[in-house]
Amino acid sequence: MQAIVYHDNKDIRLEEVPEPVPGPGEVKLRITGTSICATDIEEWQFGPLWVQHGSPNALTGKQTPLVIGHEMAGRVAELGEGVENMSVGDRVAINTILTCGTCFWCMRGQQAVCPNMAVAGFMADGGLAEFMVWPADHLVPMPDSISDVEAPLLEPATVAVHGVRRSGVKPGDTVAVIGCGTVGLLTLQAFKAAGVRVIAIDVRELSLELATQLGADEVVNSRDEQAAASRILELTNGIGPDIVIETAGAKETPRMAIEWTRRGGTVLLIGIYSTKPEIDFNSIVGTEKTVIGSVATSPGDLEAAVELVAGGKINVKPLISEVVPLGRAIEDGFNRMLDPNKKVFRIVIQPGL
Ligand SMILES: [Zn+2]
Ligand SMILES: [Zn+2]
Repeated sequence: MQAIVYHDNKDIRLEEVPEPVPGPGEVKLRITGTSICATDIEEWQFGPLWVQHGSPNALTGKQTPLVIGHEMAGRVAELGEGVENMSVGDRVAINTILTCGTCFWCMRGQQAVCPNMAVAGFMADGGLAEFMVWPADHLVPMPDSISDVEAPLLEPATVAVHGVRRSGVKPGDTVAVIGCGTVGLLTLQAFKAAGVRVIAIDVRELSLELATQLGADEVVNSRDEQAAASRILELTNGIGPDIVIETAGAKETPRMAIEWTRRGGTVLLIGIYSTKPEIDFNSIVGTEKTVIGSVATSPGDLEAAVELVAGGKINVKPLISEVVPLGRAIEDGFNRMLDPNKKVFRIVIQPGL
């Protein structure tokens, strides 16, 4: 089968590899679509950071060369031994995260921080291929109201749902989302689904227009930081948002998130940071702000994302910029994502196009 294989830094290749065979409890999936994420681009250009390289992963036994891609969905093609609760042809969403189930954190229900975690496309063969195998108990049935092109976006939607759940949001809250990229726009919609008022913040007018379309109550352009800070205060009666979520992953945005949150409020960090901002920690201590990190997903988050997307509460359609065949994934997918001026959210790769 065709697959995009990660070998090393700046070395990904379209290759012919053997089709995977499902072991006991596993399912072979025909991939119906996989979206390329900024993390894939970072691994390609600056990695391997998360991609298992040099020694095998403890849970999966895998290391490079590995099939990349962690935002995918598929159709059941073959059942491994002992799999009974699904049939060939079923459409499924994929919980891409394997955890050990036995460590201190897993035993306490904090699977998102299991130190033995293995993620598809990083520590196991992922979705940029015609087929992959995955444990049957990590697959969630998917209704036909979610199309094959939309389904890969369930993965970043799950990251958004996880963040919203971790934020402890309450009815009546005002929330500000910094960064209106894919994860930011999904987070904004997940907060709207929770019934709160959302202020969307970005430096790009186009992204702010899309934020309005997707339900943001207010939008603020932060190109002028001081003007943005005053506008946010004005929109919150001089108090500040109850929760500020940082999804941009830029150098100064975590500091802004901390500064813009109201006294006693909550800062949620979802971005992945490649630079180290200087932060005055007294601005957290002196105002009793709570700073929360959010990564990966917990049991139940994917099921919730499937419900929200299927029910139209989270609209992923405007975030799909292009659909490209697997054979052109590097030229028309990865290379395009490199352009700093790209007007692209997600590019979905489909085998058999
Ligand atoms: Zn991703
Ligand atoms: Zn664990």
